[in-house]
Amino acid sequence: MSFHELGLSAELLRAVEALGYTQPTPIQQQAIPAVLAGHDVLAGAQTGTGKTAAFVLPTLKRLSERPSGKRAPRALVLTPTRELAAQVGEDVQNLGRHLSLKHAVIFGGVGINPQIDKLRRGVDILIATPGRLLDHAGQKTVDLSQVEVLVLDEADRMLDMGFIHDIKRVLALLPKQRQNLLFSATYSDDIRKLADNLLRDPVLIEVARRNTAAETVEQHIYPVDKSRKRELLSHLIHSGGWEQVLVFTRTKHGANRLAEQLDRDGLTAAAIHGNKSQGARTKALDGFKKGSVRVLVATDIAARGLDIDRLPHVVNYELPNVAEDYVHRIGRTGRAGAQGAAVSLVSAEENGLLAGIQRLLKRELPRETLPGFEPSETAAAPTTPAPRRQKPSSRRSRGRGAPGSGRPGAGARNRRA
Ligand code: AMP
Repeated sequence: MSFHELGLSAELLRAVEALGYTQPTPIQQQAIPAVLAGHDVLAGAQTGTGKTAAFVLPTLKRLSERPSGKRAPRALVLTPTRELAAQVGEDVQNLGRHLSLKHAVIFGGVGINPQIDKLRRGVDILIATPGRLLDHAGQKTVDLSQVEVLVLDEADRMLDMGFIHDIKRVLALLPKQRQNLLFSATYSDDIRKLADNLLRDPVLIEVARRNTAAETVEQHIYPVDKSRKRELLSHLIHSGGWEQVLVFTRTKHGANRLAEQLDRDGLTAAAIHGNKSQGARTKALDGFKKGSVRVLVATDIAARGLDIDRLPHVVNYELPNVAEDYVHRIGRTGRAGAQGAAVSLVSAEENGLLAGIQRLLKRELPRETLPGFEPSETAAAPTTPAPRRQKPSSRRSRGRGAPGSGRPGAGARNRRA
């Protein structure tokens, strides 16, 4: 199938071509016609599938067909993070370059006045994080009464980050009559509830990952005692001569602490997470890209939307609670044929999480013990097959799609009769 068959305008096709997209991805093939036809959409898709263009292209087409003459936004895209908002804004800019629609990206952590100026000059498509959007709404510097299309991008992340109340407050400011598009990488009970309340007879779309990192990235699992992880990490970085390493921790506090310890080990390291100011995040990321920061320690949420991939080394200092996050994390390395390796330091407490990841990947990941870092007797990895059920600590990963799908479950799939 080509982009020409999807009902897009010549201006959009030119933009798509200029970006070098030759073929629509599966989610684009399914979502673009559905959105153009005016349907609500519930899409199970994660970063790397081309999901952004899947909602941006048809939304641009619909808005450009019916110029309103009003200055208030007609499409609203809500995202969990500033980085993702900025990335969506870039896609809108690139894909809409031959149209005269205006867009603005607004998020917290930066001055509000330039945003107010931009909104005042008139905006067709507004991309925002929920908190700052509500600030504008409270100050009456944004008028949401003209919104025709609402997109919730990475809705699962927004719920994880506690934005449900903010989202509800935003919804209350929108006209009742509108099109709703909900994108989520995973399908929890909370997402189901949100979708039930928000969407009218939605078209349900599920796609496989375009990024097959889980199959192609070289993955190493090192069993190690929890107390020796930092030492092992320093050893791997030093002995391997790794110059650019992205390390994932589970908590913000853990990220800070690890970055400080690595610094003391003589490795320039910076932490990046939601509690850091925008300035600090940008500085850390720039340093990492330029090479002055050798190790970037990040939480999953902070790493979302970061414009860094094709990294030579990604390390799971701690395994994520949600198995799908493992796939997101390792997808940062070895993309597009580049060499890369994903390393996971797994303590005995994390064996249940590892089992969940192996179930998702539908294969066992070989464990390698490094001499000098053998786990203590009691912590040794079990040789028995992975348990069928994941530990209760991973509440979110239960009751979702079939193992291996990482996408909306059968309950969602069958709802549109
Ligand atoms: P996303 O899933 O929206 O984060 O997109 C992932 C990446 O795929 C982005 O870098 C897009 O520019 C790129 N992309 C989106 N659609 C296509 C396409 N049809 N062909 C090639 N690359 C694409």
